[in-house]
Amino acid sequence: MDFLPFTRPDIDEATIAGVGDVLRSGWITTGPQAKAFEAALSKHCGGRPVRCFNSGTATMEIGLRLAGIGAGHEVITTPLSWVATANVVLEVGGKPVFVDVDPRTRNIDLSAAEAAVTSKTQGIIPVDLAGLPVDRDRLNDLAKRKKLRVVEDAAQSFGASWKGKQIGSFGDFVSFSFHANKNITSAEGGALVLPDESYAGRCEALRLQGVVRSGEDGMEVEEPGGKFNLTDVAARIGLGQLPRLADFTLRRRTLARRYFQLWDRGLGCELPVDDFENSNWHMFQVVLPDRMPRAKFIAGMRDHGIGVGVHYPAMHLFKLYRRLGWREGQFPHAERIGRQIATLPLFPRMADTDVDRVCEAAKKVLA
Ligand SMILES: *Cc1c(COP(=O)(O)O)cnc(C)c1O
Repeated sequence: MDFLPFTRPDIDEATIAGVGDVLRSGWITTGPQAKAFEAALSKHCGGRPVRCFNSGTATMEIGLRLAGIGAGHEVITTPLSWVATANVVLEVGGKPVFVDVDPRTRNIDLSAAEAAVTSKTQGIIPVDLAGLPVDRDRLNDLAKRKKLRVVEDAAQSFGASWKGKQIGSFGDFVSFSFHANKNITSAEGGALVLPDESYAGRCEALRLQGVVRSGEDGMEVEEPGGKFNLTDVAARIGLGQLPRLADFTLRRRTLARRYFQLWDRGLGCELPVDDFENSNWHMFQVVLPDRMPRAKFIAGMRDHGIGVGVHYPAMHLFKLYRRLGWREGQFPHAERIGRQIATLPLFPRMADTDVDRVCEAAKKVLA
């Protein structure tokens, strides 16, 4: 039987042909495809302005800069995320302030976030882990009361929604990633939803060396920017993916439902929140019982031909963050989940019977 990875991109033949056309067109870096991708993403986000980047990480970094976050500013976030979430705060000169997660949702505990606000707090980065949205009503209420800027790390929640509204169609800054493992991909890439058009000019400048062009030959630079532009080759992949998003999300939901139907509750694992309204089911993650070391589970599943991912160890325990003063024991929920969480296979091309296979293998490995 073929090895079943925990995820796999689904690129159709029309998109592959479209990429060929771009490669033959004579214009392969940022150009008409990137513009078209931005327009399509803006439509998806209820008409809000959107600008593309070459990674979700670059997207977040520019989002922070546009939000006015820099030296001396504290930014509250979750330790249970891809390390990019906090790295970008350091990158702009700020200080990431971690708070624990809610063990049920595995997302930032907003009460803990509120308690962590100080006079130096400038922003908050919520992360929709596995595609399950952080409570946007509570989040935006907190941000308003405490006058915080929000840069939503929605890298995993493209296609998810909150009370019927698409993630990205409301809020302050919203950052998406189109990394190969995300729900839609451009191989590598990202997009920033802006609160309004007034941010667009500076956003474009910060994306490319700070350069502002005018007239036929005018060029000016007022502040340094990065080299963060999305290529047309990548944008063409994204344009081929976007129309398939709704089908991808439906398929992911169907597979997630099957996991809930077939998973043996006697194994002692914690299942994710069974949200079939908001979540885009970017991942299906279980928290293993303490008796089962995760490495042993991963190896056991591999022996059954099944890939298991790790998303993520609690990042405040990385050396970089320990050096900044963070310690074991500060965030018991994030630490335990970060040690025992396992990502099971879930991607649109998977067969229903693949879920059956995963559930049966898990039963044997956990026995
Ligand atoms: C993927 C991801 C990112 C970073 O996106 P890249 O496109 O890989 O730079 C940031 N935060 C989270 C939660 C992610 O999953």
